[in-house]
Amino acid sequence: MHLFCHDHPETLSVETDIVDAQPGKVVLAQSPFYPGGGGQLADTGVLRWAGGEAKITGFDVSGGKVWHLLDTSLEIAGKVEAAVDPTFRQTMRQLHTGTHILNAFVFQAFDGALVTGVQMAADGTARMDFDVPGADNDRLRALEAPINDAIKQNIPVNFVYIGMSVAQAEHGLIRSRSVAPPPTPDGKVRIVEIVGLDRQACGGTHLSSTGDSPALRILKIENKGRHNRRVRLGLAENP
Ligand SMILES: [Zn+2]
Repeated sequence: MHLFCHDHPETLSVETDIVDAQPGKVVLAQSPFYPGGGGQLADTGVLRWAGGEAKITGFDVSGGKVWHLLDTSLEIAGKVEAAVDPTFRQTMRQLHTGTHILNAFVFQAFDGALVTGVQMAADGTARMDFDVPGADNDRLRALEAPINDAIKQNIPVNFVYIGMSVAQAEHGLIRSRSVAPPPTPDGKVRIVEIVGLDRQACGGTHLSSTGDSPALRILKIENKGRHNRRVRLGLAENP
C-alpha cells in the first residue's frame, strides 16, 4: 500500500475530507498517519472538525481502505483536520532509522545475517531478532560504537521505488522475511537507503538524516535459541 506519509514524512497535519464513515470510524481522502506494520507502531493523533475533535485510537486496514478508529461513537462527515502526534512520530522515526543502522552493521559483520523480527515500542526502545548462528554476543555489543558514528556523520536517508523483480535480484535488498513490505499495485517496492551504508525494502517512516537521532544504546542481547539473537536498542535521553 502506498501511503501519504511515505512521500511526505514531514507533513503531520492535513485538511481533508471524510470519504466514508461509520459510527466511531472514518476513511479520509488524504491521511498523514502511519497505520502500523513492519515492527513500527501505528501513529496516534487527533481528528478535528467544526465543533469537535476526537482522538485516533487505532487503524483498521481492510478492503484497501484505512479506517481511522476514534474515541467517540459519533458518525462524522465533511471536512476535518487530521493531525499526527509529532513527538510519537519522531520517536518512531528515530527508532526505525536506528534499526536500519543496526541491521546494516549486523549484515556486514555477520555474513549477510537476516532479520527474523523487529518491534519498536512507545518507550523509545526496540528489539531486533537476527538469524546469526553461533554469534559472539560481545561482537554484537561492540556494534554500538559504529552505530553512533553513523548517527554523528548525519548521513542522508532517501527512498526510491523499484520493480519487485529488480529488488529480488539485488542481494540483501529484501532483508527480512518479516518486515519486507508488500509491493505496490504496479509491482514496485519501496527501497530505503542510508546513503553508503544500507539499502533495503521497507514501508515504514524514517528520519531524513541519521543525525536527527539521539545516540543509541544496545541495552541487552538475549539468546533466542541456537540461531537467534535478540538485540534491544534504546534511544539515549537527550541532554
Ligand atoms: Zn524501515
